[in-house]
Amino acid sequence: MPELPEVEVTRLSFANRIAGAQVLGARLGKPLRWPLGGELETLRGRTVLGVRRRGKYLLIDLDQGLMMLHLGMSGSLSFSLQPPEAGKHDHFDLHTTQGVLRLNDPRRFGAVVMVSGEQDPVAVKLLGKLGMEPLTTGFDPALFYEGLHRRQAPIKQVLLAGDVVVGVGNIYASEVLFLSGIRPTARAAKLSRPRVRKLHQAICDVLARAVQRGGSTLQNFSNADGEAGHFQLDAMVYAREGLPCKACATPIRALRQGQRSTFFCAQCQKP
Ligand SMILES: [Zn+2]
Repeated sequence: MPELPEVEVTRLSFANRIAGAQVLGARLGKPLRWPLGGELETLRGRTVLGVRRRGKYLLIDLDQGLMMLHLGMSGSLSFSLQPPEAGKHDHFDLHTTQGVLRLNDPRRFGAVVMVSGEQDPVAVKLLGKLGMEPLTTGFDPALFYEGLHRRQAPIKQVLLAGDVVVGVGNIYASEVLFLSGIRPTARAAKLSRPRVRKLHQAICDVLARAVQRGGSTLQNFSNADGEAGHFQLDAMVYAREGLPCKACATPIRALRQGQRSTFFCAQCQKP
């Protein structure tokens, strides 16, 4: 599943190249997760102003309206001057004067949604509950502490919920909790300020590193299924049940939280 760093790497891969382009037309294949919310025809003649990201949504600003794109479980985007003929998993093409943006999505949990802007009720419904953006200066340790302090759930589940901070998916959650020495089952509200500060730093470091590294491994995740991702290659705890902790050699333990697998070192990570 593409996580926030992969979505950001995707954005960086075409944002500059598509900016300023005029839309020549669009093609929709099989239905995606949500309805398009408008007529493809209305896209013709629009100008692409730029591409932003909010959580795992790519926001393509047009001179009139906004196109929201989500990669779902298995989606990937390409932007090229002359793409091959659309294959059976290519479900959306945006033809522009500067190239063709194509969504390939075998499982079709991805989405393309046209809205009038970020204030559109559909956009508000999709984006309104998203937490802070971890790769921006708006992700402030004090605000993060306040957000966590209101939550009684285990910290791992609060991170995955994405309403305090976005972008910490299942693999990243296990990793950042290891790096900050916090047991995944610890209650979010009980974490002290110094521990939250450590967690905040780990999230910033891990996600920024993943984006930096992402460019060269784009292919890996775009074809990946489930939770396979390039980050696993050097994971400290994720998917390492029974293997010695890289810091203290204690066997890594696994547990289920909210139907998701969690990995941790009982020695390095305190409740
Ligand atoms: Zn350890």
